[in-house]
Amino acid sequence: MQSLLKTYFGYDSFRDNQREIIDSVRKKHDTLVLMPTGGGKSICYQIPALAMPGTCIVVSPLISLMKDQVEALKANGIKAEALNSAVDLGIDMIIRRRATAGDIKLLYMSPERLLAEMPFLLSNIHISLFAIDEAHCISQWGHDFRPEYSQLGELRDRFPDVPMMALTATADKITRNDIIRQLHLHEPKVFISSFDRPNLSLTVKRGYTPKEKTRFIINFIKARPLEAGIIYCLSRASTERLAKELSAQGIRAAAYHAGMKAEERDITQAQFKQDDILVVCATIAFGMGIDKSNVRWIIHYNLPKSIESYYQEIGRAGRDGAPAETILFYSLQDIILLEKFIKESGQKEVNGEKLLRMREYAESVVCRRRILLNYFNETSDHDCHNCDVCQNPPKRFDGTKYVQMALSAAKRTGESAKVSTIIEIVKGMKSPNVVRKNYDLLPTFGVGKELTTKQWKDYTLQMLQMGFFEIAYDKAEAVVVTTAGAEVLFGRKKAMLCEINANDDMPVRQRRTKKIQLVIPHFTNVGDRVEDPRLFEALRILRKKCADEEGFPPYIVFNDKVLHSLATEKPVTLDEFGGISGIGEHKKTKYGPRFVALIKKMI
Ligand code: ADP
Ligand code: ZN
Repeated sequence: MQSLLKTYFGYDSFRDNQREIIDSVRKKHDTLVLMPTGGGKSICYQIPALAMPGTCIVVSPLISLMKDQVEALKANGIKAEALNSAVDLGIDMIIRRRATAGDIKLLYMSPERLLAEMPFLLSNIHISLFAIDEAHCISQWGHDFRPEYSQLGELRDRFPDVPMMALTATADKITRNDIIRQLHLHEPKVFISSFDRPNLSLTVKRGYTPKEKTRFIINFIKARPLEAGIIYCLSRASTERLAKELSAQGIRAAAYHAGMKAEERDITQAQFKQDDILVVCATIAFGMGIDKSNVRWIIHYNLPKSIESYYQEIGRAGRDGAPAETILFYSLQDIILLEKFIKESGQKEVNGEKLLRMREYAESVVCRRRILLNYFNETSDHDCHNCDVCQNPPKRFDGTKYVQMALSAAKRTGESAKVSTIIEIVKGMKSPNVVRKNYDLLPTFGVGKELTTKQWKDYTLQMLQMGFFEIAYDKAEAVVVTTAGAEVLFGRKKAMLCEINANDDMPVRQRRTKKIQLVIPHFTNVGDRVEDPRLFEALRILRKKCADEEGFPPYIVFNDKVLHSLATEKPVTLDEFGGISGIGEHKKTKYGPRFVALIKKMI
């Protein structure tokens, strides 16, 4: 198995659980695999497919995912094909013929196609294994329920001797048991990997206005001009506005949302995969069909509705295992909007609880990764050193007097003013609204002048999180003081607040400390060798050239991790080149000469 891994994929060793999973499948056990995105699920059925006689049938929910997988396999010299509605009839016939002749190792199919083919094609192929990818689609409990998946249970009954494997990145227990039940898995071996993604840095930014967010994002992108990233927004309108603003700055950006025509969406997705567009401003509709391994950063323009969706979305960065950055913005406006959605949704309680957990994460003063892992029922006993809390622990101070100022202003308006008005009152700002209501005559008017508006926004958000006031959604979002708030207001309790970090606006990259390199196996500076950034850029350009010539996405030629290794190890012979992790025999022969020639020229 190890030599197959090296020959075809160029990797020296298996990751956690991969070997055990492969053994289980080869012993013909039904097997359930739970691994986070980027964990390395594909290898778990691809290696058995190569090792076992016959053809492995892979079920995948999306045509774009199948295309990606098949391209990646072919690029490694493996016989793989896909049958789905996008394949034209002539090619379809050829694939069928090859499949019956045993000339295909991995055959990808949509679930509809698979069911339709059960009495025909499938009965005529020697099937080694069924691999059901994105298996959570079978469960109504999961987030991507696909009715076509629910009939897959028939497979187990119809092909009792073929082992079956289900793979998913959705870990929760209900979904897991539902998969086993619905696929009729027989005494399955279950493998659960850690859901930690140590290469993703986690940062949260509180209380930015839309203008401040845009400015931050532009600076952020300009500091990483050749890196691809996704910005998730809550509304279609904001994806479009943001894409326009970024484009005006010379950034290759586009919007993506469910309101666009399917063709427009396909074009954007294709350009993104090809690195022709580097930034996509999207609603959550974007991502599931994206297997792009070189997404280097994810920004959440708004607070997501649950930790599950947040984790899935940030999981789209850094699938190649190289460091990737994630930033989450959240503001009072997000909370107000999401609360409204929840009120209108059918499942108020569940959704409300989920949002609360998300808010707790965003407001955390302990290591964020520990909170995430805890949420997924995995306890972690150490801080991660790769989140903003670990790197820049918030300083707490006695903020009782500020809480009293804000709450007292709220009380004096008869609990009828919004947070923004409360801030105007304590700051002593004579806005039309303040003057009209005579709030400038209140004794609290201007008592909190010493703080900036930004500080007030941040502190009031903290007060809301700590439960000192509530927002009355049915009374124009008025601030209403709670019992806990009254305790502070009347001096019976103290309130601790967190300072805004002074260096909050510094680009994230500068704040990365050396510590990260202790926890993440980093590609730079291996031994006494140092990565040459100039060489990296030159290699990236050559990769793009090869990709365009062949009509492949660049990350299928080589992922970023391989390029970093090349720029560090600087191999000058074909053998040295083939020794780099992630370069198999096929790619060594195909790309070796061109890449080695470039490296020789550059060093
Ligand atoms: P998933 O399907 O779980 O999201 P993939 O199968 O796409 O993840 O794998 C993610 C990345 O990890 C790919 O670039 C893959 O080639 C790489 N990978 C998988 N197994 C190994 C391994 N044993 N050693 C090194 N890299 C690996
Ligand atoms: Zn941490």
